[in-house]
Amino acid sequence: MHTTGRQIVLAARPTGTPKSTDFRLEEVAVPEPGDGEVLLATRYLSLDPYMRGRMDDRKSYAAPTPVGGVMEGEVVAEVVRSRHPDYGIGERVLARLGWRTHAVCDGTELTKLDSRFSPVTTALGVLGMPGMTAYTGLLTIGKPQPNQTVVVAAASGPVGSMVGQIAKIKGARAVGIAGGAQKCAFVKGELGFDAVVDHRSPDFADELAAACPNGIDVYFELVGGGVWQAVMPLLNQFARVPVCGLIAQYNNSGQPEGPDRLPATMREVLSRSLTMRGFIVREFWDQRPAFVDEVSAWISDGRVRFREDIVKGFANAPEAFIGMLDGRNFGKLIVEIDED
Ligand code: NDP
Repeated sequence: MHTTGRQIVLAARPTGTPKSTDFRLEEVAVPEPGDGEVLLATRYLSLDPYMRGRMDDRKSYAAPTPVGGVMEGEVVAEVVRSRHPDYGIGERVLARLGWRTHAVCDGTELTKLDSRFSPVTTALGVLGMPGMTAYTGLLTIGKPQPNQTVVVAAASGPVGSMVGQIAKIKGARAVGIAGGAQKCAFVKGELGFDAVVDHRSPDFADELAAACPNGIDVYFELVGGGVWQAVMPLLNQFARVPVCGLIAQYNNSGQPEGPDRLPATMREVLSRSLTMRGFIVREFWDQRPAFVDEVSAWISDGRVRFREDIVKGFANAPEAFIGMLDGRNFGKLIVEIDED
């Protein structure tokens, strides 16, 4: 057992795209669990786009990470010492430890992982927060009907891939948007979307229109920016837009360049009776048991597939995270911790 653990803190607030110097790797003493506590060792750290928001000092739905504070995040951890009656050594749990290799916990806010989470990394992706985001946002807000068209970008990632696959299960037509030939081939060939369009293509807007001959009934918004501009003219009357993420804008500081498009957008919302509804997944947390039951069954019977992008080595977390904001991940991005 190591006596020294590691953590990654926010060294500086980024301007635009984060740099590796905005993070700092620190060595810290591994704490001892007291009575009623466990010592957890992180096995897998989830890297998620929302972490970019925490790096800015901006009013949002969650408080910013202070400069010098440990980066936030969810992990799969293993109990390595226990002085808690409910947790035995070797048990795997889901915990919000942040970017740390070790932490002591009193058992509150730990979720035990049963055999449905196989491999255990699914607790961070398809059966975790991103999968649940897709499930709740699509079914509660998007409400896809048979033969309707559902469009989603970042379609090879953990949220987008689930949106399209659940849309298919509900009898809708799924159109994915992804960056590059490899991701597009995966979305259509492996995930079974009906069509896929590469947002990097110079003819993206025309190709999207051709892939949606009956317009768009549900647009599950994950990226914003130019993708939204191409989608908006294709939205049908009464279309639903769950507004879940705007990753194309996360590295912007200040106002976007170009004309103010809000008046034109509002005109479309009015004239086509659109429903746009923002949400943060935690508002639907009461649906977690139903989500895990239903999606684990879909995985077992082959109706849902998933892809994970596992980066080895705790120290590689910052580079992997920076790459994800630019689409360099291919599947749910997870860091495997290579130490005791
Ligand atoms: P992904 O693993 O899919 O990674 C992000 C992907 O976004 C990249 O791989 C890239 O895919 C795509 N992307 C990045 N920049 C652009 C761009 N300019 N235009 C188009 N696509 C871009 O992430 P997640 O599935 O974890 O998250 C997807 C979205 O969902 C994020 O916006 C995230 O913030 C949001 N989210 C919201 C939650 C909520 O509660 N509201 C909860 C969880 C996630 P590609 O190479 O294919 O373009």
